[in-house]
Amino acid sequence: MSTEIRISAIETIILDLPTIRPHRLSMVTMNRQSMTIVRVRCSDGCEGLGEGTTIGGLAYGPESPEGMKLTIDEYIAPLLIGRDATRIQAAMDAVVKAVKGNHFAKCAVEAALIDCHARRLGLPMSELLGGRRRDSLPIAWTLASGDTAKDIDEAQAMLDRRRHKDFKLKIGVKSIEEDIRHVGAVRKALPALASIRVDVNMAWREREARNAIAALADAGCVLVEQPVQGIASLARLRRTSPIAVMADEVLVGPESALEAATARAADVFSIKIEQAGGLFAAARVIAIAEAAGISIYGGTMLEGPIGTIAASQLMAGVKELEWGTEFFGPLLLTEEILEEPLRFENFELQLPKGPGLGVALSEEAVNRFRRDGKHASTLRVVG
Ligand SMILES: [Mg+2]
Repeated sequence: MSTEIRISAIETIILDLPTIRPHRLSMVTMNRQSMTIVRVRCSDGCEGLGEGTTIGGLAYGPESPEGMKLTIDEYIAPLLIGRDATRIQAAMDAVVKAVKGNHFAKCAVEAALIDCHARRLGLPMSELLGGRRRDSLPIAWTLASGDTAKDIDEAQAMLDRRRHKDFKLKIGVKSIEEDIRHVGAVRKALPALASIRVDVNMAWREREARNAIAALADAGCVLVEQPVQGIASLARLRRTSPIAVMADEVLVGPESALEAATARAADVFSIKIEQAGGLFAAARVIAIAEAAGISIYGGTMLEGPIGTIAASQLMAGVKELEWGTEFFGPLLLTEEILEEPLRFENFELQLPKGPGLGVALSEEAVNRFRRDGKHASTLRVVG
């Protein structure tokens, strides 16, 4: 008889949560956040949590919360149920073989399996991902109200509360002249302690980006994230850019990271566990960047607390983190969904030290915000 610990159930729940203000990006304005929560249960009684979250439905990436739920329920869960829960990479190999793409869904499931195994072993998830180098992470804040005066007030309030000192401005919706004025005005209004970066989310063409980046540098901006589409175009801009160029959207896993590193397309890689295809894939993206001398930044898909802590457990082990992270997703939500809220203080997120993710979902909050309105668990359990 086998003593193997098996994956016995995988449940997916979509939560819809209100946000503190509309969040304006070049491709979409978000007025709420929806996340697909994955709960894995194993034959030894251990449970693990993962999260799949997108920015504005299908506006940013190729997956939606509804699509992730369907992919996991219909394709991934049947593959995993009954498998050895302690062999996560082997289990995920089977998923990668049978399911193309769907990086966000794979990431949510893989995170839940790692969380579960780490809890079983009594270790924080970070210890299964290479080990911790730090217990807190610097957290940048994104100013994306679409209004200069509001953004300045918001930034000043964050500085006063010592919650954030690095600010990312979402630009690319308005004309370049307006955007540069906006960046310059925010820079001028804030103390030297604050740093100003911009994210264009690929809204510019290469030719206009070249002039705009020079103007951004003059305005006191220190980094431009994904100004244009494509690795080749990014590489050409990086060569002449006076400020750091960060790659984000082009990084969709280790293969693209290798291509971007080889082309010297960026000075900094934004590491997103969902975009990379999971925590192990993101770890390989980090390894590629480190080997190429490219800096690491913790990027967000505006995940809620489960996805944010999963990414944090990985970033806790990165050697150099000079650009910090933007793991502020939970702070965009008006409602707490954890039993114990995350601690953001002194410009940093304090990482939980308990086993697995080190956080617990509030069942009351799950019941309140789940889209399907169900109040009982609907686990797919193998008999
Ligand atoms: Mg970005």
